[in-house]
Amino acid sequence: MDKAPTFKTGPDREAVFKPVRKRPPTPEEDREHHRFLCRAAWKRCRLQKLKRSPMCERCRKAGDPRVPAVDVHHVIEVRDAPGLAYDLANLESLCKRCHGRETRTRQRMESRRG
Ligand SMILES: [Zn+2]
Repeated sequence: MDKAPTFKTGPDREAVFKPVRKRPPTPEEDREHHRFLCRAAWKRCRLQKLKRSPMCERCRKAGDPRVPAVDVHHVIEVRDAPGLAYDLANLESLCKRCHGRETRTRQRMESRRG
């Protein structure tokens, strides 16, 4: 009855979960990402993820399952795999600290490869 809305993607999701290019986003990609984050559909998807997984997944893996998650992170970025933007399997619930660390790591990787 109260089936949760699904955010499914196409049949070839295996194909999208593969290494992707890494480079800093262009200003246009940044703007597009910002627009994405403002979308109501994303806000719903994000809330659904936090409801299912309210604790930080990284802290849990590191041994502390009691850190509340506040951010939802795309494992594969939206610009690299738009089809996975609303796929719960591509989302990670993170606390502020873990999300900040993830963002810094990614930026470092991107600027190194340039
Ligand atoms: Zn954490």
